[in-house]
Amino acid sequence: MTENFRCGYVALVGRPNVGKSTLLNGLLGQKISITSHRPQTTRHRVLGIKTLDDAQIVYVDTPGLHRGDRKALNRVINRTAADTLHAVDVVAFLVEGTRWGEEDQWILDMLKDLEVPVLLVVNKTDTIEDKARLLPHLKMLSGLREFADVVPLSALKRDNLERFEACVVRLLPEAPPLFPEDQITDRSERFLAAELIREKLFRKLDQELPYGMTVEIEQFKQEGNLRRINAQIWVGRDSHKAMVIGKGGALLKAVGAEARRDMERLFDSKVFLQLWVKVKEGWADDERALRSLGYGDDQ
Ligand code: GDP
Ligand code: MG
Repeated sequence: MTENFRCGYVALVGRPNVGKSTLLNGLLGQKISITSHRPQTTRHRVLGIKTLDDAQIVYVDTPGLHRGDRKALNRVINRTAADTLHAVDVVAFLVEGTRWGEEDQWILDMLKDLEVPVLLVVNKTDTIEDKARLLPHLKMLSGLREFADVVPLSALKRDNLERFEACVVRLLPEAPPLFPEDQITDRSERFLAAELIREKLFRKLDQELPYGMTVEIEQFKQEGNLRRINAQIWVGRDSHKAMVIGKGGALLKAVGAEARRDMERLFDSKVFLQLWVKVKEGWADDERALRSLGYGDDQ
């Protein structure tokens, strides 16, 4: 450990789908936060820990901040995200390419009274066809509030991530590391297993995702270099159950196969995975039911 070691928490915020989880995975070189092109893929707060020679950065991938609090699930998610902002050392505010919309503005407004430095990250630069538009756009963004720095990057192509990391380190307070240097997340394998299953479901179901869907790990047993995992997929309706299972069980089978492959890579072991689909009616509307499934107690 060097003398001026830096350590602190960095929140990744931005509207759903802007690329927060992709950036976190890219920075860590490991998939600990699930991604998909669907908003609201990330429901739980996940810590990603990156230890360098002179610093330890603890990233907090916030579940999307988004408007509309009709459903209890959305309320719980927004509360978690807003609480996070006040407990970090740096905020990285992500926006997408040359787009700026009212959802971005809404989040910028939420950051208004924060005293910690805010880094502006312009993600998905690989999608900008007319590069000449980037510079004036960055200028416009820089005028919106005081930013500690502005970093254009591509999380997906891992382009300019070093520059981002260097900016973050510079903004961290001097402090000893909070976590052992080989730890990359605060989440258990059990949690990560459930998230990987959820990611596959989100991707496979694509257009017709049943939003009242959650994954619960019933059993997680380690026997030597084998993990035996039983998971239940909860859905809100019988018709959703049929969707998740798919024709002749094809969709569920594919979800299981892909999730298992990712788990074997992440846990570096063999995995036996069994999935069941069960119906629990109306759970997304019921905060108490949510809490019983582990939502909202992210601390
Ligand atoms: P989050 O909701 O902010 O966590 O966003 P995700 O990380 O889940 O990403 C949303 C979608 O944007 C996914 O389909 C990603 O593959 C895609 N994405 C993220 N970063 C980039 C990028 O730099 N370039 C491109 N082209 N796509 C990206
Ligand atoms: Mg995410």
